[in-house]
Amino acid sequence: MCEYDYLIVGAGMFGATFARLVADDGKKCLVIDKRDHIAGNCYTEGRDGIQVHVYGPHIFHCNDDEIWKFVNRFARFNNFRNQPISISEGKIYSLPFNMYTFNHMWGVKTPQEALEKITSQKLDLEGREPQNLEEQALSQVGTDIYEKLIRGYTTKQWKRDPKDLPASIIKRLPVRLTWDNNYFNDKYQGIPEDGYTVMFQNMLKGIEVRLGVDYLANRKAWDEKARAVIFTGKIDDYFDYRFGELEYRALDFDTWIEDTENYQGNAVVNYGDSDVPWTRIIEHKHFTPGNKSTRTVLTKETPANWSSEKVPYYPVSDKANADRYSKYRELAENEEKVVFGGRLAEYKYYDMHQVIDSAFKKYKSIG
Ligand code: UDP
Repeated sequence: MCEYDYLIVGAGMFGATFARLVADDGKKCLVIDKRDHIAGNCYTEGRDGIQVHVYGPHIFHCNDDEIWKFVNRFARFNNFRNQPISISEGKIYSLPFNMYTFNHMWGVKTPQEALEKITSQKLDLEGREPQNLEEQALSQVGTDIYEKLIRGYTTKQWKRDPKDLPASIIKRLPVRLTWDNNYFNDKYQGIPEDGYTVMFQNMLKGIEVRLGVDYLANRKAWDEKARAVIFTGKIDDYFDYRFGELEYRALDFDTWIEDTENYQGNAVVNYGDSDVPWTRIIEHKHFTPGNKSTRTVLTKETPANWSSEKVPYYPVSDKANADRYSKYRELAENEEKVVFGGRLAEYKYYDMHQVIDSAFKKYKSIG
């Protein structure tokens, strides 16, 4: 007889969602995490009355009623709408690409004028699918926007030529001929008013959680505790890097406080120029509009090369890593007692709602 139905390794979005589903079904689970806090990279921390997104900005958005209903059980969401701006060569542009962007770029005032301008400089793919990120961007918005707002940012972010990156990375950015600055097309969007950490505390209510414990250092003893294991850590780490390391993009965060109420006037300001090392500056208080703090917390985000002591952020979607991942995936399928899920175990550039969806599906298939 095992002590628990499930041992869940990782208290991030996949682990916490799975744990909630298990507990709601009246089954018993234990959640462990090697960090000293829950919530994975969604973790937020209060500073000066401001919720700071410690591992980078997390803006929740989805189209799915079931997922939206699920997260609203654990947090009151505000109606934050992500409307980033980008600075390039000293000028400010709106994101995603919309009439404000086209107006600032070319002075055009109507959708027809914008369309003409885009058509005059966009790459004609003659009916074929874009083969890479550069083709995707050039065929959608043309040369000016690509050169000013995409090429520099993307090269800094991924440290690769946009020609060597998949089109899918940028497909998530809408292109609109309307005066609409909303970064996402989704029906639902917002940020938990009290921060993500409180949301995760609520998700994990009544569930046993042990922090600061390393599953892989003692996996046999942990495995004996449960009927099944849900592993949400790095899949290559689980298999002792047998086929080599999977690569990630890492980030360096430089966080500081300014003694002023409002520093940059927006939650997210991107930097398109390639000679500015950082990709964006986050002003955390603007994620909760109406925040009354007299000071402000900012984070400068600079992409960094991957090394195993860094926090893994973005899986790198190139062929070498995809091939390596599929070898690990094959091994994972033969692990009888262990289920792999989440960004690190599935090696996928996931949004939060996609992680929840993946946990729902996994639970339905094995729960
Ligand atoms: N991107 C860009 N310029 C920008 C913002 C994004 O070229 O100002 C591209 C870039 O390739 C990036 C991708 O769009 O990797 C997706 O950006 P998003 O901000 O959605 O990614 P996040 O880092 O928030 O996951």
